[in-house]
Amino acid sequence: MNRSSVRTRREFLIDTARIAALATANSSQAAETSLPKVSNSAPPIQQRRQASIAISLDLEMARNFPRWEDAHWDFEKGLLNAEAKAYALEAARRVRARGGVIHFFVVGRVFEQDDIEWLKQLHRLGHPLGNHTYDHVYVLATKAEDIQYRFKRAPWLIQGKTPSQVIRENIELCSEAMETRLGIKPAGFRTPGGFSDGLNGRPDVQNTLLNLGFRWVSCKYPAHPYSQPGTPPTAEVLRGIVAAQAAAQPFVYPNGLVDVPMSPISDVGAFRNCRWKLGDFLTAVKMGVEWAIEHKAVYDFLAHPSVLYPNDPEFRTFDMICDLVQQAGDRARLTDLDAIAREVHL
Ligand SMILES: [Zn+2]
Repeated sequence: MNRSSVRTRREFLIDTARIAALATANSSQAAETSLPKVSNSAPPIQQRRQASIAISLDLEMARNFPRWEDAHWDFEKGLLNAEAKAYALEAARRVRARGGVIHFFVVGRVFEQDDIEWLKQLHRLGHPLGNHTYDHVYVLATKAEDIQYRFKRAPWLIQGKTPSQVIRENIELCSEAMETRLGIKPAGFRTPGGFSDGLNGRPDVQNTLLNLGFRWVSCKYPAHPYSQPGTPPTAEVLRGIVAAQAAAQPFVYPNGLVDVPMSPISDVGAFRNCRWKLGDFLTAVKMGVEWAIEHKAVYDFLAHPSVLYPNDPEFRTFDMICDLVQQAGDRARLTDLDAIAREVHL
């Protein structure tokens, strides 16, 4: 026993009080404005010296992009096209020029492609590359047919294995591909899809990830309102997205695994679910980043080069985030998810 453990105990009590206060605030706010209720498990906002703003891109193809009728990507998420790769590189170059990095998450099947020079370049430029599974599998699946489209069409690929075995192996395959072709270990793990309550209620998945060597993961994507498809966001929708930022703060699972959530709204939410124009997406992201700066909190921008190249060809979202951080001076910094996760244990 020493002073630090006493301090930790006191901090725990303060945090518990904050959680209770936040839960009360959330439920009363939800009742007043009929916004979707933010999860009561929303973690306390850690007291930081400055806001931590991360830019993260998942390297995968996405149904409905670049053309709305594109559906085949569901079966080949990792086979990136030339446009998505070029976009990832240029986004990385821009953010690097502004003093930041992009935290990428790689779908391992991309390592089956002949030319991976672009990934080597991202690594050489100092951008962290994390694991996003080999086939973009649903890590909470308990039935074989729910794991991934590829295995639904080609069930012989996973025959005789339990879903949890398939999921574990799919995560390991991505790390092995990364080590074989890039010579590096993954910088963290992000679940395909985000879950409004993260991995809460699934200690088996939390333990699998910890046992595979991940100290932190990025799994939670808090619930928030969407606009009707094809209509711009109302003030209420934007308010709801900003309100969800408090539920997108890093937290620790009982087994010690850290979650660095994704901050809404994602590009998929904006351009697929809501079918917004770029201006609407910029507005929502700006409000989220400004909230994080004001509260010295975390903002983890989540997007995909495959979705952004047809929707934001001039990289305006990246420039805007870098501008907001620069304008904030000492009140904010550009960072990556590794650094954010390290601070959670402090
Ligand atoms: Zn993904």
